[in-house]
Amino acid sequence: MLELRAVTAGYDRRTPVLRDVDLTVADGEAVGLLGPSGCGKSTLARVAALLHRPDAGEVRLAGTPVPGFRHRAPRALRTTVGVVFQQPRQAADPRLTLRDLIAEPLRATGRAAEVADRLAELAPTVGLGGDLLTRGPHEVSDGQLQRACVARALVLRPRLLICDEMTAMLDASTTAALVGVVEDYRAATGAALLAVGHDRVLLDRWCDRVTHLASGSSARA
Ligand code: ADP
Ligand code: ADP
Repeated sequence: MLELRAVTAGYDRRTPVLRDVDLTVADGEAVGLLGPSGCGKSTLARVAALLHRPDAGEVRLAGTPVPGFRHRAPRALRTTVGVVFQQPRQAADPRLTLRDLIAEPLRATGRAAEVADRLAELAPTVGLGGDLLTRGPHEVSDGQLQRACVARALVLRPRLLICDEMTAMLDASTTAALVGVVEDYRAATGAALLAVGHDRVLLDRWCDRVTHLASGSSARA
């Protein structure tokens, strides 16, 4: 599903954050990625989600090599992946209601006709009821906003879901609910998961295998 080969990436070519990193997530597999703060887990998640261009190496998604990195990856490839970040407030456009936040990937891919059906299905799945969908990000709690971000990540039915410290900001009950949403989605669709975190116990429970990203060195995952 996802293959990173000898990926080098960072924010300054002289001091890359990731050096020669290999990572494979098989079709349908759930892989946990652990590592100390600052070692490059989020950078790796963004590379895997085609949101950050590596300086060297190869990324293959669903068997397709991501072309050259000279151009933006094609839409068909980008929509194969859904991503949830740690900080929902950084990820969410403050001007959108939760409804529009969730629907945005559908609209952006010319599938506005599916918005009503997908919202009717996803809102109860992630536990957003009442008038919450009509509120803006600043009118809901972090937990409620993260529920919307999970719905948004699932709205295009991705074959790979990347959760970067998805539950770090959440209380125990919201954590349990959203981990359950991801597990149910994977059980229903066979989607693969890359779960980035620092909580070994949670990742062990959630994932088929857990791998380490070591700080400042090459990693084999
Ligand atoms: P982790 O997720 O493991 O905590 P990150 O991938 O967020 O690690 O960060 C790895 C390193 O890259 C850190 O030293 C961090 O300061 C740096 N970094 C992250 N994002 C940026 C950015 N946008 N610009 C410059 N440096 C960054
Ligand atoms: P959670 O346990 O999901 O993190 P909170 O305890 O933070 O929720 O919030 C409790 C209630 O307060 C929620 O129903 C939420 O809708 C409401 N709420 C939280 N933040 C705001 C806000 N900035 N404006 C309006 N209502 C809010």
